[in-house]
Amino acid sequence: MCGEVQANLPAYVDRSLPRIRRRLVGLHLRRCSECGEEFARQRDVSTGLGRLSQPPAEPPEGLLEQLLEDAARPGVKGRVAVPARGAVSGARPALSVALLVAGAAAGTGLGYAGWRGARAARSRLRR
Ligand SMILES: [Zn+2]
Repeated sequence: MCGEVQANLPAYVDRSLPRIRRRLVGLHLRRCSECGEEFARQRDVSTGLGRLSQPPAEPPEGLLEQLLEDAARPGVKGRVAVPARGAVSGARPALSVALLVAGAAAGTGLGYAGWRGARAARSRLRR
């Protein structure tokens, strides 16, 4: 159950989960502290991403050049990836990437759902 619930958490967080599944996940989250904590963490990441995506993320001047310069230096390549991994509040690297991707997908998914909902409402009015 926990595995299934946690697999559904990204969709639960961005509200793209079907209502019945949403209710099941919500019930489980109230009973299971482990999944509840995982939910809180994903929600925080998701809202963090939302805040980040408000203003276009401008990398500091010269940062890219600096990174390229560092990466070109022999022996530094392995270390360059480390700060990026730790950037998402100590989460497991693979999971962080998955969450970032899920968050990005959620943004578009929500927009689409809103558009579809508005369209459905309009067509109901016409009848
Ligand atoms: Zn659980």
